[in-house]
Amino acid sequence: PTILAIESSCDETSASVIQNGQVLSNIVATQAIHEQYGGVVPELASRAHQQNIIPVVSQALQKANIAKTQLDAVAFTKGPGLLGALLVGSAFAKSFAMGLDLPLIEVNHMEAHILAHFIDEPKPNFPFLCLTASGGHTQIVLVRSHLEMEVLGQTTDDAVGEAFDKSAKLLGLPYPGGPLLDKMAQTGNPTKFQFPISDMPGYNYSFSGIKTSILNFVKKNTAAEPDFVKNNLPDICASIQHVLIQTLLKKLVLAAKELGVKDIAIAGGVSANSGLRAALQEGAKKYNWNVYIPAFEYCTDNAAMIAIAAHYKYLAGKFTDQYVSPDPRLRIM
Ligand code: ATP
Ligand code: MG
Ligand code: FE
Repeated sequence: PTILAIESSCDETSASVIQNGQVLSNIVATQAIHEQYGGVVPELASRAHQQNIIPVVSQALQKANIAKTQLDAVAFTKGPGLLGALLVGSAFAKSFAMGLDLPLIEVNHMEAHILAHFIDEPKPNFPFLCLTASGGHTQIVLVRSHLEMEVLGQTTDDAVGEAFDKSAKLLGLPYPGGPLLDKMAQTGNPTKFQFPISDMPGYNYSFSGIKTSILNFVKKNTAAEPDFVKNNLPDICASIQHVLIQTLLKKLVLAAKELGVKDIAIAGGVSANSGLRAALQEGAKKYNWNVYIPAFEYCTDNAAMIAIAAHYKYLAGKFTDQYVSPDPRLRIM
């Protein structure tokens, strides 16, 4: 099948065309407007999606060299995400499908982050474990098939991407801080400063405590040395990144061991983190894992992942109708 997919859950407007499981185009328009506010402003995101959606879809069709009449279905992100942002993508997809008399496919954004692993080789074998670490989620998911997934554990407060972004903000780095913190960390010493690892029951996580400990750490040291952060930035970033990755890995190792699963994947925006990618490679050696790390372009939000998820739904005959509405809190079921 040839499918047009639309992603608009947060601050990326994206469209992709996929044909028989091959991604032909993946256009992503990142909204720069939020930088000056230090975070995503929902109303501005909705407006930017409205401005971007038609050009982004046109470009995706053009780059794929596919005419509207060649499409077999239209897919969109149903949730989770910002309601106003999701509404733009879903309303567009519904109108487009109605106008062309095409079937509609709804996609769960978090399942799509995981299914991004099926865009390129090597593809994971079922069942596999996926650590989904992004701006709004931190989950350990047991993936039984393209359509069956179970969340084994998740964060009870902040997502790890949020912890990266907020830590970066406390250090005075501009938004979005996660990638910048990663960059600074690369020349730093990860064991220079110690931050506590939070331990939650089962496979759950907590990342809200780390913010407070970083805040106290910065306050205490700045009182003694006003330029402390400036003078130690790479080491501070490397140490923060280290504790966040160790926290993520601890539960992943536990789940892999207890379930006897050897195929281990990471997904979501934080899977772009160089430290996490390296830690997973180490895990491969240490625990005899087969590890799967997505290409950079498929880590953060993109429509190609929505397209591949829609491809498998199409094959299974899972379509939706014009009465569908976005669900900001949609869960993996
Ligand atoms: P969700 O997928 O949970 O709805 P989202 O769509 O906002 O949230 P993604 O686009 O998947 O999230 O990921 C964005 C997050 O990834 C941000 O928090 C960002 O800081 C983080 N991130 C991206 N690159 C890196 C990196 N190299 N190191 C650390 N964090 C990173
Ligand atoms: Mg984003
Ligand atoms: Fe995302």
